[in-house]
Amino acid sequence: MEAVTPLHIGSGKLDVEIGEVDLPVLRDPRGQPYIPGSSLKGRVRTEAERIARKMGMDICEPPNVDNMCGSKKSRVEDFCICCKIFGTAGKISLASKIKFRDAYPLENVERLLERTGIAIDRGTGAVAKHALYTIEAIPAGAKFGLEIVADNLSDDELKLLKAALKSVEDSALGGSSTRGFGKVKITIDCVRERTAGYYLGVEGEKVVSGEDAKRWLMV
Ligand SMILES: [Zn+2]
Repeated sequence: MEAVTPLHIGSGKLDVEIGEVDLPVLRDPRGQPYIPGSSLKGRVRTEAERIARKMGMDICEPPNVDNMCGSKKSRVEDFCICCKIFGTAGKISLASKIKFRDAYPLENVERLLERTGIAIDRGTGAVAKHALYTIEAIPAGAKFGLEIVADNLSDDELKLLKAALKSVEDSALGGSSTRGFGKVKITIDCVRERTAGYYLGVEGEKVVSGEDAKRWLMV
C-alpha cells in the first residue's frame, strides 16, 4: 500500500480538538511509522457496508454494539454480510473471518512531514483561541507491506471484500482527509490459497503472482 498523499494515522484521535497542539503519527518501537491492522480493517469494513447498502442489502449499524447483528439477530445465518466477514459482538459474538496485520514501511521513512493547521470551534465556526496545531504525517510515496488473511470467505463475501479494498483508494485512510491526506493505492503482489491439505502437508498452495495478482482485485 502506497501513500499517494500524506498519511496521518494517529492514536485514534482523528478529530482535532480545541487546545490540541500536536498530533503525532503512530510509531513502532524503532520509531518508524506504521498502520495498525485495526485502522485498515475499520476503513475496509466501512467501505464494505457502504457498497452493500448501495446494492440494497440490509446491513446493521456499527460501531454501537446494540445496533449490530450480534445484538439484534438471534441466528448467525441471519447476520448481515458485513458481520459475517468482519465479525460482531453482542448476545451472539462472531469472530472476524479476516485479519489485517499491522502494516510497516517497506523502506525506512527518514523524515515525517509536519503541517500546521488552525482548529475551528465547531459550535461557533470561529477560529478557536490557542488553536494553532501541528499535525505530523507520513510523506507521499511511502510504501507499506500489507498482509490480509481471510478464512473461508464465500464467493459473495470475497467479491464484497475486493470491492471494499478498491473503494478504499477513493476514500481516505486516517485523519485530515479534508486537506487531502490519506489517499492510498493498494497493489496486490501475491495471493496464496491454502487448503486443509496444505497444512497437513499433503497438498501444495495455489499461488497467484505477477500480473495476475495485480489484476486479482478486478476479477
Ligand atoms: Zn451486521
